[in-house]
Amino acid sequence: MSKKKIHIISVLLGLAIISCNHTNQRPPTGSSGTVINTMAVKDSVVVKQVANTSAQVYAKPEVPVLCYHRISEGPKSEYRISPATFSAHMKMLSDSGYHSISPDQLYDYLVYNKTLPGKPVIIAFDDSRAEHFEIAAPVMEKYGFRGVFFIMTITYNKKNYMTTVQIAQLAKAGHTIGLHSWDHTMVIKYKEAADWPKQVTDPKKKLESIVGKSVEYWAYPNGVYDHKGAEELSKYFKLSFTLYSKRDSVVPLQTVRRMIVPECTSQGLLKSMHRTFGM
Ligand SMILES: [Zn+2]
Repeated sequence: MSKKKIHIISVLLGLAIISCNHTNQRPPTGSSGTVINTMAVKDSVVVKQVANTSAQVYAKPEVPVLCYHRISEGPKSEYRISPATFSAHMKMLSDSGYHSISPDQLYDYLVYNKTLPGKPVIIAFDDSRAEHFEIAAPVMEKYGFRGVFFIMTITYNKKNYMTTVQIAQLAKAGHTIGLHSWDHTMVIKYKEAADWPKQVTDPKKKLESIVGKSVEYWAYPNGVYDHKGAEELSKYFKLSFTLYSKRDSVVPLQTVRRMIVPECTSQGLLKSMHRTFGM
């Protein structure tokens, strides 16, 4: 028997004994019994996983998160790049060996230390523009990438914005749908009790009914947050995303940093990613 095999069996036996301590059952003897018990133990280990503290989350290296807004011809700015530039950015990421990851994967990495694929990146979009469905999603899918689309729900079915059917199709194609408030009012302005259902909980429920699954991620309108708002959002979302600001050590899961991608060359984007996220 190889050393590796012996090691695996020792680990399995070790797990079986842990299980015994937890369940007060005698560990089974024999190889087949051990394996069955280990399966059960594996499940219980997953359930009993201990979440990282805020300090532990904050200490983990950041994953680059890109944020796009408009993708169309017209005057270029931080908030508008051309379709050709977007395609070039995706090709560069693919050629450079990047893997798009989902917010679920980022959460499991930050909170439970799950491993990520090499060169992970999140590709996010704010404001529910029609071109996110018409231009961005097909280009990403060509490279096997999946994105995160943060929806400002007042835009449903409006001219130049995504329809509810398109949003549902993105979710079905494996992209993640997140919430970006009802009408883009900043979180620091939610003063009345009624602002939370209006901007957060009611739009969240409606969006969930459209995509047929739970909506667990939030992007702050204008990237602006405060501690009170972040604490409240943590009741409804696993992660919340800012724009420029650095992660906040008190609420790191509710202040995941993104970078706005302006009109720039692919090499320029790569340099910015390295500079911003300390890769
Ligand atoms: Zn926005």
